[in-house]
Amino acid sequence: MTAKIISGKEIAQQIREELRQEIAELKAKHKLVPGLVTVLVGADPASQVYVGQKEKTSTELGIYSERIDLPEKTAQNELMALIDRLNKDPKIHGILVQLPLPKHLDETAVLYAINPKKDVDGFHPVNVGKLMIGEPDYLPCTPHGIQQLLVRSGVQIEGAEVVVVGRSNIVGKPIANILLQKRPGANATVTVCHTGTRDISFHTRRADILIVAAGRPNAVTADMVKEGVVVIDVGVNEVGKTPDGKRILAGDVDFEGVKEKASAITPVPGGVGPMTITMLMYNTVRAAKLAAGLA
Ligand code: NAP
Repeated sequence: MTAKIISGKEIAQQIREELRQEIAELKAKHKLVPGLVTVLVGADPASQVYVGQKEKTSTELGIYSERIDLPEKTAQNELMALIDRLNKDPKIHGILVQLPLPKHLDETAVLYAINPKKDVDGFHPVNVGKLMIGEPDYLPCTPHGIQQLLVRSGVQIEGAEVVVVGRSNIVGKPIANILLQKRPGANATVTVCHTGTRDISFHTRRADILIVAAGRPNAVTADMVKEGVVVIDVGVNEVGKTPDGKRILAGDVDFEGVKEKASAITPVPGGVGPMTITMLMYNTVRAAKLAAGLA
C-alpha cells in the first residue's frame, strides 16, 4: 500500500476561503471586523518570521491586524500594562503574544493576564479547563488543525483507536482531549505515549490513527505501525542545511518507510504546519462573533 498524502496546504487553503467569505459577510451584515493583535518582544529572527506570516494572512483574509514590536529590554510591568490596554480595546478580538519571550519576562504571568475571551491561542488555563470539560470556546490552533486534517480527509475518527506520541501542553495533551470529546469529528479511544511509556511500539501498532508530536526525527519507523494506519506527523526538525544555507526539515516519522504501510500520511513540510496559522484566523473570527453575540 502506498499512502494517500494529506495536504495541509490544500486543506488550509479551503478553510481560508471559507473564512474570507465569512469575514466579508460579518462586515456587510453586522459591520463587524475581526481584529487580531500580535505582540513581539525583542528581535528573534524566527519569531519575526512567524509574526510576519500571521500579519500577512490576517490582512489577506480581511481581518484588522495590528502588530506591536517592543524592545528586548521591555519590563514586565510595561508588557502587563499593554495587555491590560489590549484587553479593553473593542477593536481587538484576539491577542497573540509571540513566544518565547526574553528570559527576564515571566511568560506564564503574561499569558494568564490575557482576557480568556481574547485568548485565540487557547493557552489560558480557563480555555484549557473548558476544553477539558467539553465546553471549549477556543481549540488551540495546532491540535484543531490536526482534527480538521482528519475530518476533511474523510478519516473515520469516531470509534477509532487513536495513539498520540507526545504529551506537551500545546500539542499532545490538547489533541488527545479534542479527540476524546463525545462529539462528531471526535469520540475516539485515545492513548497518549511519552518517554515514560514502557513499550511504545505495542501502542503505535494498535493505532488506526497515529499522531506524532515528539520533536525527534525517526521517532516512529515502519516496523512500529500497522498496515492502513493514518499518520499525522506534527514534528518539525532541522536535519541539515542545503549548500545555499536553507534549512532542511523533517518530521518525527520516517516518511519514506511509513508511507508504504499507511493508508494516509501528512508530509513535512506542507502537512500540519500550514494549518496552525489558519486555525488562528478561525479563532480570531470566532472571538469577534462571541464578542458580538453572534456565535
Ligand atoms: P515538546 O514540548 O518537546 O514535547 C515532546 C513530547 O514528546 C514530550 O511529551 C516527550 O515526552 C515526548 N517524546 C519525546 N521523544 C519521545 C520518544 N522517543 N518517544 C515517546 N515520546 C517522546 O514538543 P511539542 O511542543 O509538543 O512539539 C513536538 C514537535 O511538533 C516539535 O518538532 C515541534 O517543532 C512540532 N510542532 C509543530 C507545530 C506546527 O505548527 N507544525 C506546532 C507545534 C509543534 P516527555 O513528556 O516524557 O518528555
